[in-house]
Amino acid sequence: MVFVMIDNLLEGNKKFRTTDFQKNLDFYQGLVASQKPKVLWLGCSDSRVNPERITHSCPGQIFIQRNIGNIVPAHDWNFATVLEYAIAHLKITDIVVCGHSGCGAMRALDAVTDDVYIPLWLNNAQEAKRRIDEGAKPATTDEEKKERYRRIEHENVKLQIEHIMTYPLVKKAVDVKKIQIHGLYYDLETGALSEIV
Ligand SMILES: [Zn+2]
Repeated sequence: MVFVMIDNLLEGNKKFRTTDFQKNLDFYQGLVASQKPKVLWLGCSDSRVNPERITHSCPGQIFIQRNIGNIVPAHDWNFATVLEYAIAHLKITDIVVCGHSGCGAMRALDAVTDDVYIPLWLNNAQEAKRRIDEGAKPATTDEEKKERYRRIEHENVKLQIEHIMTYPLVKKAVDVKKIQIHGLYYDLETGALSEIV
């Protein structure tokens, strides 16, 4: 096996340094001492949903945590640390939970597999699927199946916001209006990002 990907990445970095970085040297030097992002972005790891690219943001503007399915588990040390740092130290003003169309994690909620870790992780999103399927007639056509997943993707954003609110430091910051929480949804087909919560 020949590993060429790392060469591509290093070549890409050379291009970045000779174009973007050198041309905006003052901007990048200004980032050396500290970061002052105002937004915490909780999104999916999906390689097609790059938060900075789809929002036309610059380095230093968004504090980012991504994982499979844009999930926020309750009682999670990783998330508690991210939230504490973002709220208490960075003093962010907004938290975004961003779902997206065609999310493989939401499709995997239906899968029966031999995987060990993925189903355990996705248990944090099963409630979204349950809420959408409850009382609904089974989706049969491709259009109905696509619509069902879109509804689960939306519901999952709402569910993860509910999970965020179980962290006392978040609830307190929201109650005193120090931060706002937003649910966003990115459409791969149109490139549109919309506020759904
Ligand atoms: Zn996804």
